[in-house]
Amino acid sequence: MSVENTKYIFVTGGVTSSLGKGILAASLAKLLQLRGYRVTIQKFDPYINIDPGTLNPYEHGECYVTKDGAETDLDLGHYERFLNVPTSQANNVTTGRIYETVIRRERNGEYGGKTVQVIPHITNEIIRRFTLLNEEEGTPYDIILTEIGGTVGDIESLPYIEALRQFRYDYGPEHCLVIHLTLVPYLGATGELKTKPTQHSVKMLLTSGVQPDILVCRTENHSLPTDVRKKVAKFCNVTQEAVIENPNAPTIYDVPFMLSKERLDQVVLNQLSLPLKEEPDLSYWKSFLSRLKNPVDSITIGLIGKYVELHDAYLSIAESLGICGAENELDLHIKWIHSEDLTQENVYRMLKDLDGIIVAPGFGMRGIEGKILAVKYAREEAVPFLGICLGMQTAMIEFGKNVLKLEGVNSSEFDPDTPHPVIDIMEEQKQVSQMGGTMRLGEYECVIKRNSLVHQAYQNNRIHERHRHRYEFNGKYQKEYEAHGMVFSGTNPMSNLVEIIELKDHPFFVGTQFHPEYSCTVENPHPLFLAFINAIYQNMLLQREAEGVRAS
Ligand code: GLN
Repeated sequence: MSVENTKYIFVTGGVTSSLGKGILAASLAKLLQLRGYRVTIQKFDPYINIDPGTLNPYEHGECYVTKDGAETDLDLGHYERFLNVPTSQANNVTTGRIYETVIRRERNGEYGGKTVQVIPHITNEIIRRFTLLNEEEGTPYDIILTEIGGTVGDIESLPYIEALRQFRYDYGPEHCLVIHLTLVPYLGATGELKTKPTQHSVKMLLTSGVQPDILVCRTENHSLPTDVRKKVAKFCNVTQEAVIENPNAPTIYDVPFMLSKERLDQVVLNQLSLPLKEEPDLSYWKSFLSRLKNPVDSITIGLIGKYVELHDAYLSIAESLGICGAENELDLHIKWIHSEDLTQENVYRMLKDLDGIIVAPGFGMRGIEGKILAVKYAREEAVPFLGICLGMQTAMIEFGKNVLKLEGVNSSEFDPDTPHPVIDIMEEQKQVSQMGGTMRLGEYECVIKRNSLVHQAYQNNRIHERHRHRYEFNGKYQKEYEAHGMVFSGTNPMSNLVEIIELKDHPFFVGTQFHPEYSCTVENPHPLFLAFINAIYQNMLLQREAEGVRAS
């Protein structure tokens, strides 16, 4: 096991869920990366699903897809957006995957007749995976951060905490650090910050034999006064400088700055006996944040989807829009629109104030009619439009229905007997019977047509983008679509699958079979979102000018 030169940081959560372990891990990793360390982050999720690919987005939000085609937890999206380095399947482990490995070994007779148990077999497999990222990569990492999902005290987290205890015991505190994220609530009635939940949470960890080294204390909007820090330090057995305040942040991208002010990176490096190296150069992030917070204008984009009650279901799209809006110094307002709420009667009223429209990815029939109405509106009213995956497929159905007048046109996902399956199951998907991990997943090459809108956006004729789908545009209809003005501007060079479509004579009408939102980072804003936002803004300026002329 290659632990000698690598240091391990574990992030556990206490008191309650949703305190932001993922953002804490991503922000700390960013600070360490900017100090010159080679860092990565992995997430261990204590649920039994092999991966979140089969989960309804209402459960844990979006399923994030890595380059190598792993369906992973949405926190990996934060890791990539913050660190600007790709993650992979090995960066996301679930209890299901651990048990699957152990049970497969047991079936192969690899345990030599022993009783297979949580301790040591499951915990050993967890420990093996703590260091696995190093074995996959050529150069070992300097630091691997591991976020343990869930909250300390949960029954399903216990094997992870036990594995962590053993790991730390074996490799020593100078190689392995535990950061515990807790809540310090403010009681309005008495005007006090209360440390008891943090004390209890640390006690809970201690009952499993793990003493945290650093406590990051989330507060609503309060800073931690010295006496509170002293109290937490004393009752929880950590040094005072290792009590880090972490109040609510205006945006998630403020968190690295807030933690840097609290010297979290320095405390971490000192405890791991690592040199501080250079001061983290946050200048790019500073200018990004300043653009994000000081927009010169604002635009409203309607996001049409069927899981819009839970914004996390479209997390990467929302973050990509925010990042690329900031690049254009625009405040990006998202109007979340439930596709099932859209009807023939209300579509104009519901969409009329939008400057741009995104039809979101998705699975299944629910809400499709509303999505088709939104595409029709965007196409006819010349509203900038971006259709992602199912959004692109819906655009093709709409075009077939309203422009080509193909009777009964549909995707065979929604109507297996449609006379015009313009969206059809991919050849290699026909034999697939298992649900999990069997779609067309991950990065594929796409060749872009010259003189197209997307060629202008990417400034490139070969791109790589990530996928997650079973259905595709049916090539049999391509000629007919082209004859009516549809441009097929991106194609997979190996399989000929249609990757990008666009319309001429429209300010911006683009559909992508891939998901651009999975590869947009703070330091690498995505060219397609940039072009979309830019087109929206130019369109808006033109409209304003026209309105000005009319008014005068
Ligand atoms: N349901 C569609 C398919 O499987 C679209 C998937 C998606 O939007 N990610 O092809």
